[in-house]
Amino acid sequence: MAELTIAAIRSAADAIAPHVLRTPVLEAVRPDAVLLCKAESLQPIGAFKLRGAFHAMQQLPADCPGVVAHSSGNHAQAVARAARLLGLSAVVVMPSDAPARKRAAAEADGAEVVEVSPDSEERERMADRLARERGLVPIPPYDDLRVATGQGTAALELLDDVGPIDRFYAPVSGGGLMAGCAVAVHALAPECEIIGVEPSGGDRLAASLASGSRELLPTPTTLADGLRVRRVGAVTWPILQAHVARSEPVTDDELLDAMAFAARNLRLVLEPSGAASLAVALREGRGRCGVLLSGGNAEPAVLARALARPVRWQDGAGLPS
Ligand SMILES: *Cc1c(COP(=O)(O)O)cnc(C)c1O
Repeated sequence: MAELTIAAIRSAADAIAPHVLRTPVLEAVRPDAVLLCKAESLQPIGAFKLRGAFHAMQQLPADCPGVVAHSSGNHAQAVARAARLLGLSAVVVMPSDAPARKRAAAEADGAEVVEVSPDSEERERMADRLARERGLVPIPPYDDLRVATGQGTAALELLDDVGPIDRFYAPVSGGGLMAGCAVAVHALAPECEIIGVEPSGGDRLAASLASGSRELLPTPTTLADGLRVRRVGAVTWPILQAHVARSEPVTDDELLDAMAFAARNLRLVLEPSGAASLAVALREGRGRCGVLLSGGNAEPAVLARALARPVRWQDGAGLPS
């Protein structure tokens, strides 16, 4: 399979350009930092996952019988949307506790939804079985070089728009987003420090970077439903190990405060996973920081909870110096 390189990310960017939004970069000013926020929450379907899904699915042969994906949310929506626009049929395997509106969104795009128990291994087994029995092509959520290359186009756009940065923050679950973005960032800003963000109590990349091998942790209890895997991917791990300097934990309270900051100061709705990188950048950012805001599919009740909290962070933009 093709390697994950900046050249591959550039050609992916050209290939997916007709289907994805070139999202804006919004600035937030802090006493010691400028946060250059890449608003992937504004992507159709509300998350960067459209990039990887399109890049993987555009390469399928015309006689492909269809695709299958398993996901509790954003990847299912991305595969369903890409399948509709590419004229493919899609089956998505979703857990019975997936948010009703994410399931409805996949169905509205014409995908067949197969429901399984919330156990994440059950989901994988069902997707494998459907692939075998119906000849469907699996589209993995993160552990695939085509997918990770597609996700890297978000960081390519960011650096093309803002020039060199000192730090780059992105959330890490399986690591497809970070693997692609890290390669793009280091190609265009070799000195940049690349920092992952994970739920506190479930920081498996931090544990893996410390031990030097891919660690398995218990499923974290976190509001960030997009960041609940137990370990980073086998394919993404060596890329993460080569590029990511460190990975920082984030608590639910910090996620809520970052969601509130984004709503008040950037006029952006973020889901908890989508606010994770911002939470850590607000806490410790220095210099010019690229901040990848990964998704905006917030449950209204969670957004309401975030906005009801006392204001924790103020944007320095526009304040007298
Ligand atoms: C999928 C997802 C992530 C994590 O992406 P990985 O490639 O699995 O690391 C982060 N934020 C949001 C909003 C997501 O949907």
